[in-house]
Amino acid sequence: MRLLKELSRKEFRKNFGTKEQCMAYLSQKKWADGYQCRKCSSEHYIKGKHLCSRRCKKCGYDESPTANTLFHKVKFGIENAFEMVYDITTSKKGANSIWLAERFGVRQPTAWLFRQKVQAAMKSSKAHPLIGDVHVDEFEIGTPQKGEQGRSKSEKKMRVVIAIEHRSGACGRGYAKVIQDYSAASLRPIFTEHISSDADVLADKWTGYIPLKKSFPNLKQIKSDKGRNFPMIHQQIRNFKNWLRGVHSYCNKEHLEEYIDEYFFRFNRRNHRQSILNKAIERMIIHKPMTRKTLLNPET
Ligand SMILES: [Zn+2]
Repeated sequence: MRLLKELSRKEFRKNFGTKEQCMAYLSQKKWADGYQCRKCSSEHYIKGKHLCSRRCKKCGYDESPTANTLFHKVKFGIENAFEMVYDITTSKKGANSIWLAERFGVRQPTAWLFRQKVQAAMKSSKAHPLIGDVHVDEFEIGTPQKGEQGRSKSEKKMRVVIAIEHRSGACGRGYAKVIQDYSAASLRPIFTEHISSDADVLADKWTGYIPLKKSFPNLKQIKSDKGRNFPMIHQQIRNFKNWLRGVHSYCNKEHLEEYIDEYFFRFNRRNHRQSILNKAIERMIIHKPMTRKTLLNPET
């Protein structure tokens, strides 16, 4: 597994190899903007009874750095949790739950659940829309059914729309989204959530893009010519599909969006890899806790 050059495992372990180091890091990040008691809002605290915890001077509430974060009640050791985040966010292939279970000696469902939490932290903040030249296209995942061609209506397929910045021949940042069909209504969210309205968007001649020109006046359409006019984005689609196939051979429809988010979290930071781990951990601190129940039944 190819790991980050900038942050080798040796270096990672030097910084986060012990429970004390991980808890100190969480504490420093969690209360970076100052402490405030979750129960009574007082801003005064003393050292708590537990490792790196803070105890409210007014009401006595003792808060752990992991409380109310995605590290809440991790049962396999905070230092192992940090290393799992390291493996998931920095390994080229993304470390699936079977691999993690073996490596850390935990049950596969435990690794899967924690992996879901890390994925939640890799979800886009939608705060940095794509700018400049942006190419948009769609693709399908799944075996083509007999007699199907082009934009099919098969229920078995998973459809995805992808947008990638085109920077003088090379690709910049990108995002993708699962879509139900190829209607303008289904294509619209990736535009409104991930593309700046003044971007020079290029798509093929598909009619579903036409209504979007109202909100994206620089959207142009050219013939795809079987993808020949969109070589860069087609290469990115192949890369994504290879990654998904190689790392997560089984990925059902319900979870595809999360794998897409994970892929592009890493993709968009491929030139700033040192910050990947810090960013993921920061996001895990501000994200509210998730349980197996809320993950399996998102509505509850
Ligand atoms: Zn208090």
